[in-house]
Amino acid sequence: MKRPQTAVDLMIAFGAAVLSSALITAVHMIDVRAQARQAEAEVAALSDDLPRIQPRRAATQPRPPLDCTKMPCVALTFDDGPSPMTQPLLDALASRGVKATFFVQGYRAAARPGDIAAIVAAGHVVGNHAYNHPRFKGKGVNFVIGQLRSADAAIVAAGAPRPTFMRSPYGERTKAQAQAAARLGLVNVLWNVDPNDWANPGADVVVQRVLSAAKPGAIILMHDMHQGTVDALPQIIDGLRAAGYLLVTVPQLIGDKVAPGTNVFSGPKG
Ligand code: ZN
Repeated sequence: MKRPQTAVDLMIAFGAAVLSSALITAVHMIDVRAQARQAEAEVAALSDDLPRIQPRRAATQPRPPLDCTKMPCVALTFDDGPSPMTQPLLDALASRGVKATFFVQGYRAAARPGDIAAIVAAGHVVGNHAYNHPRFKGKGVNFVIGQLRSADAAIVAAGAPRPTFMRSPYGERTKAQAQAAARLGLVNVLWNVDPNDWANPGADVVVQRVLSAAKPGAIILMHDMHQGTVDALPQIIDGLRAAGYLLVTVPQLIGDKVAPGTNVFSGPKG
């Protein structure tokens, strides 16, 4: 082996050593990167074969319990369906992730059981709005019980749980109605925000009326049969949320401490 004798020889030998070291390092890095890429590909291939395990949200992100005595809740309620408007209404609610309460007429539930099933499947609440929307004023307890029972039967036959909430047609509250409700285990849920959507004033007017009248604890009356209501819904939901409200169902709003036969809110007559 030739030994370096001069300063020039030493410098050449040193330069060769540095160059060689750099080459080895570069080759090594290329090799490591290739190994890493291969490992990633193997993990990806393996992952495709493994069952997907959903993260458990509750374990990592506990949500505070919903307490509408402390939070600004409002409930959207839709009367008089089901109807051909039910599915568009459900689509509008689903597009915003909102749960609502539907007070349905018994004979309509009997005619459109699929809509009742769709309401329940989407996580909404079904209430009893009598069988065919009669006036309760001047009627006896047996008449009211008959109306509520036959509506209950149609609702249950369509696949919904037996309602624990009713809404008198026209918001009428009578002694016989209260006795019938108590007998059947029903709370009569009326309303305190009414945009008169049934009169088709136009979606913008319905939106403005709801947003201007909303307050914490409000029960908002609308109807499951008008295109204008469906058209107004996205703006109503966005507007209420922008004002800080939580949109909840009737049982979430009033809890389970209200005695059957009680009226929640008065509701205007007629
Ligand atoms: Zn009604």
